[in-house]
Amino acid sequence: MPSEVVVTARGARRWESGHPWIYRSDVRREPEVQEPGVVTVRSARDRYLGRALYSPASEIRLRLLSRGDEPVDTAWWTARLREAHARRAAIDATAYRVVHAEADSLPSLIVDRYGPHAVVQLLSAGLERCRADVIAAVEEALEPDGILLRNDAPVRQHENLPLEVEVVSGTVPDDVEVEEHSVRYRAALRTGQKTGVFLDQRENRALAGRLGRGRALDIFSYQGAFALHLAQRADSVVAVDSSADALARGRENADLNGLANIEWVEANAFDTLRELERSGERFDLIVLDPPAFAKTKASLGRALAGYKEVNLRAMRILAPGGRLFSFSCSFHVGRALFLEMIAAAAADSGRRLALERTLGQSADHPEIPAIPETGYLKGALLRFDG
Ligand code: SAH
Repeated sequence: MPSEVVVTARGARRWESGHPWIYRSDVRREPEVQEPGVVTVRSARDRYLGRALYSPASEIRLRLLSRGDEPVDTAWWTARLREAHARRAAIDATAYRVVHAEADSLPSLIVDRYGPHAVVQLLSAGLERCRADVIAAVEEALEPDGILLRNDAPVRQHENLPLEVEVVSGTVPDDVEVEEHSVRYRAALRTGQKTGVFLDQRENRALAGRLGRGRALDIFSYQGAFALHLAQRADSVVAVDSSADALARGRENADLNGLANIEWVEANAFDTLRELERSGERFDLIVLDPPAFAKTKASLGRALAGYKEVNLRAMRILAPGGRLFSFSCSFHVGRALFLEMIAAAAADSGRRLALERTLGQSADHPEIPAIPETGYLKGALLRFDG
């Protein structure tokens, strides 16, 4: 029998409003043995509320799994995984997210698919206890050649969990080739950022590729995923990143696609943008995809200043008719703040820019409005009419 946790009326209401988290302050009675795992949850009035993952060391104490009372076993995980997989039937790529945690009603679980391989992240102590069932379910639902656990995400430290990377089923190569529309590139599953690739940008990359022309610039390029798409149509692309390793991989990716029109520049993007502006350079398409500048709420002010600076400079080096794809993946910079920052940069640029589209995460990273934490990536496509 799973142990039992009693929550306050406020905690219960949170679940009823569609958010799967209950915080420490809304736990009325902790279980007798405070061990992570699946628990039964009741209201203070002894109403059965459902089953949840319990994390005794985390501020997020409970994560709702189910309002029913069926056992949470391999069959349960397999069924949920199959549902999540089915929701992605229309996705046209070899690498995509199969489970986006809370957004797929599987809190703290990430499952990404890279062709025949699966990369899994278990991001809470409660879920870690379900490891054997989850792995068995991934085997059942996806039938992968191998499963790699990328349990080196820093959030695991909030849950007192060790950081580790290991193959838990079959075999998984270091590098896997990804096919994204007309572009191919290699993903480093064990060492790359996130689970190897920024899959959340896949659809935005395809759009940027379709609009590529003239002289293009990919700022914060990582291993060049945007640059590769742009290079298919643009005459030339400059890709800028501070990581020499990422750029080396970018070069290999360009070779893989037979593309010789990308210049790889190892530099601090802030310096590069300043120099490009000073020297009067102009670009027909610019992608600006910085890392999360606002890692915490406290750093929001500085982060917004950083975003505004790079955006302002990028706007100023657009050629007439040129387009800017601008992104922020900071959860703490919400959509409204992001667009305010864009408006402020546009005003300072002295240029009239049209907002052609607002952008978000690829469809395999669904955003659930009632669970704001499921959404973090937002973007704008702007056009300078000259
Ligand atoms: N657009 C990429 C993802 C970018 S991730 C894609 O679609 O795959 C952010 C990148 O910014 C990382 O590769 C990181 O090395 C780089 N970076 C971080 N700070 C930087 C800086 N100050 N100047 C240049 N690059 C930076």
